[in-house]
Amino acid sequence: MKKNLIGLSFDELNAELVSIGEKPFRTKQLWHWLYHQGQTDFSQMTTLAKDFRAKLADLYTAEHPKIVTEQTSVDKTRKWLVEFADGKQVECVYIPEEDRGAVCISTQVGCAQGCKFCHTGTQKLMRNLTAGEIVGQFMTARDSYNEWPTPTDETRFLSNIVVMGMGEPLYNFDNLSKALKILMDGDGIGISKRKITVSTAGMADNIPALADLGVKLAVSLHAPNNEIRNRIMPINKKYPLEKIIAACKEYQRRCERRQYITMEYVMLKGINDTPECAKELMDLVKGLEVKFNLIPFHKWDGAPFEPSDKETIKKFSKILEDNWFAAPVRRSRGEDIMAACGQLKSAKGNKEA
Ligand code: SF4
Repeated sequence: MKKNLIGLSFDELNAELVSIGEKPFRTKQLWHWLYHQGQTDFSQMTTLAKDFRAKLADLYTAEHPKIVTEQTSVDKTRKWLVEFADGKQVECVYIPEEDRGAVCISTQVGCAQGCKFCHTGTQKLMRNLTAGEIVGQFMTARDSYNEWPTPTDETRFLSNIVVMGMGEPLYNFDNLSKALKILMDGDGIGISKRKITVSTAGMADNIPALADLGVKLAVSLHAPNNEIRNRIMPINKKYPLEKIIAACKEYQRRCERRQYITMEYVMLKGINDTPECAKELMDLVKGLEVKFNLIPFHKWDGAPFEPSDKETIKKFSKILEDNWFAAPVRRSRGEDIMAACGQLKSAKGNKEA
């Protein structure tokens, strides 16, 4: 099988070209074609010498993940099921705002964390994604919107990245950080670090390192104390709230500039949605700069929880907001195409390769 060049760092690409007898100056040209132009066909890389193009085509590919299904919701949310070379599939979603939007990408096939409210958590972890597969999802999204070459910031539609799809990103940290560096490279895809958010279920050991990458942090907190969190998120046994909060403080200490952390909080009826929970939550985050994101729970077949009712969510939000915390309720997006985490992929199943 030919080697796919997507996902190699600049230095690795350089070493690859040197290994086939090419001059290092060609690396920059090729990098530009791969990541700025998004070109997947070597024969179309017209500024490269013909013999070089032929050699590349003989030895390598520059393929982006294949789209298996694509659905666009009435609210313009677009969802793809994408497939990698070994037949494994993940989903990514584009969530549009007024003049821009975020692409939500995955870092693992399946997930080992088993959060009780999450449909992906019902699927076992199959494998980590490579750096190329992580970057490739964003490139596939750009293919779908025909957003090549890399537009200037003002005109780009796919402006942000949220690493919030399938899997726990911080358990695939090496590939994630390599992928983020490629995505942020100004001579290529050029997404600013300030427009990238990594969301973790609380793998505390790798949280501070996100500050060194310069990206934003979101924590799937979902509970105000360990007792509730242990019930809904098994990862809490290894990384209880004290460890997560300490890691968040270290993240903020290491950030170059003032950086809020988004605390994600899914509203589960009778579990974590009482006024007492809201008060406990505020105590928990003392000393941190946070904003909350309250998420109405989308019930899926067999889910062990019920969604909190609208009034309860409103009250919960008001308690936080009365105490100067931002606590918006996340708008439901793409409900008609089941854009909640894990649902499209589970509906289709995953091929064992
Ligand atoms: S919420 Fe995230 S970490 Fe938890 S099971 Fe779902 S995908 Fe995995």
